[in-house]
Amino acid sequence: MATAAFPFLNPIAAEPESVGRKPSAKALSRRARQRRQIQGMIAASYVVDALILLVYAHAGTIPAIMGPAFAASGLASVAFYLLLSETGFTERFHDHYFVTPQLIVSAAIMLTFTYIVPEVGVMFLCTLFVVFNFGSLRSTARQTALVWTATALGLAGLFLLTDKPISLPHDSYLERFATMSVFVLTIGRCMFLGMFSSQMRQSLYASGVKLREAYKRIEELAELDELTGSFNRRCIMRMLDDEIARAHRINAPCSIALIDLDWFKRINDAFGHPTGDEVLRTFAITVFANIRSIDRFGRYGGEEFLLLLPDTSSEAAAPILDRLRAIIADLDWSAFSPGMTVTISAGLATLAADENPDTLLARADSALYAAKARGRNRIASA
Ligand code: GH3
Ligand code: MG
Ligand code: MG
Repeated sequence: MATAAFPFLNPIAAEPESVGRKPSAKALSRRARQRRQIQGMIAASYVVDALILLVYAHAGTIPAIMGPAFAASGLASVAFYLLLSETGFTERFHDHYFVTPQLIVSAAIMLTFTYIVPEVGVMFLCTLFVVFNFGSLRSTARQTALVWTATALGLAGLFLLTDKPISLPHDSYLERFATMSVFVLTIGRCMFLGMFSSQMRQSLYASGVKLREAYKRIEELAELDELTGSFNRRCIMRMLDDEIARAHRINAPCSIALIDLDWFKRINDAFGHPTGDEVLRTFAITVFANIRSIDRFGRYGGEEFLLLLPDTSSEAAAPILDRLRAIIADLDWSAFSPGMTVTISAGLATLAADENPDTLLARADSALYAAKARGRNRIASA
């Protein structure tokens, strides 16, 4: 059985909308359905205990009325709660399952019957374990403290202020059978709840894994680089493929430039990584402000960027890149930190007939390498 079948026991299915927002009609009806399921389980539990009481009555241990009386009190509390639930009253409370009132009412029923029929009192006290086990799946620390205190007071009154012979009988064969059933069913119900709480942990873990995977996927699907706001690598590479395909199709020129910040490691070392990040952002914004609307600019990795210049021959591309280089070099970087200068180097490559993105990029990369080798703050063409 999956916890999905019993969302009460599943914190994931627990209403995420309960934080601040008003739940939707769909969420409300789902919650009402969950509450019905829980009340069904509680009612079944009362009926099971009432059947055992009938066995004790049959054995002559207790009056015959006790079984029906116990079932009636339990079912009446369930019916009352269902009424509050179905009229939407419980929705007014954060704890719309009414965990605390229900635990207290159940404890009161158990303690009352222990008082009335102490001959089988241990049975009701056993059921208290089941009740609290169930409630603890949804209780907060405050609720636990409150309910525990109330029950402790009830138990103190029962044990210390009365001298009731609270026990479980095992004189006749029938009594032994009923008493055995009490323990078997108590252990079974506790284990049933334990099993759900372990499934709850598993489902939490599985949801965490799924969430991480989804987050990764979202990041992949996102088009922009978080730091610089330029296109991310995945996106700019896709654009490169598209642009090259288009250039080949319509036989248009196309140039690309790999741009790398010079001595960037030194900038980080001298001014700190956060300042390095600011430099990257400012560089990217400056490039954006100075390229044409048809150009595409993305972060290729680290402090290396890829600029796509559609419909641009190598003769037209070189001055565009050199102008960008000069703008970056002339920016007043000392505003970031006194003494700071930033320059870029770029490797320019223009698409050849039948060339693919990989070889074009490789040529731009070699040109960039050459620009660095020749002293940086310069553009080199492949
Ligand atoms: P060169 O002129 O040869 O390119 O020298 P360089 O120091 O720029 O080259 P290198 O590749 O050795 O160093 C690049 C540095 O860029 C290393 C890395 O710490 C830094 N870097 C990469 N990504 C980021 C980033 O997102 N933020 C910051 N602040 N630094 C980054
Ligand atoms: Mg560099
Ligand atoms: Mg680099």
